[in-house]
Amino acid sequence: MAEKTLHDLFHDTLKDIYYAERKILTALPKMAKAASDPKLKAAFEKHRNQTEGQVERLVEIFGIIDEKPLGKTCPGINGILEEGTEMMKEFKDSIALDSALIAAAQAVEHYEISRYGTLKTWAEELELTQAIALLGETLEEEESTDEQLSMLAESTINSQANVAAE
Ligand code: FE
Ligand code: FE
Ligand code: FE
Repeated sequence: MAEKTLHDLFHDTLKDIYYAERKILTALPKMAKAASDPKLKAAFEKHRNQTEGQVERLVEIFGIIDEKPLGKTCPGINGILEEGTEMMKEFKDSIALDSALIAAAQAVEHYEISRYGTLKTWAEELELTQAIALLGETLEEEESTDEQLSMLAESTINSQANVAAE
């Protein structure tokens, strides 16, 4: 059996994030629908559109390494999304729902930031110049989404949820 290399690791992890992004694409509209703050709703909708572009970038990267775009089940994102769904159910109709949605969404963004950071570093080692740029663009979108969510939480949403029970 041929030894597995960094190239195989890159390809495998690309499949992982490809699977994850497509799951996220179906989760974001549900989160937008559940959000009551209009700015949060808009942030989820905007990121859903960005995610479509991110999936396209991944397809491009599969092409760069002469592979077909195929996903591989990512238990990490499945667990993160499952936990998010559970939070949404448990805090449904509560004033803390938006804070819960942000927490769930940031767990997703952090998983993505981890994966894209690693993939970009590996692309540098593998000298996949075009892939480095594409991964960098997506990484920036994930980071700015994460920052925007923190801003929304810290400026208004958390304090709206912090009301003593009567
Ligand atoms: Fe993404
Ligand atoms: Fe994974
Ligand atoms: Fe994202």
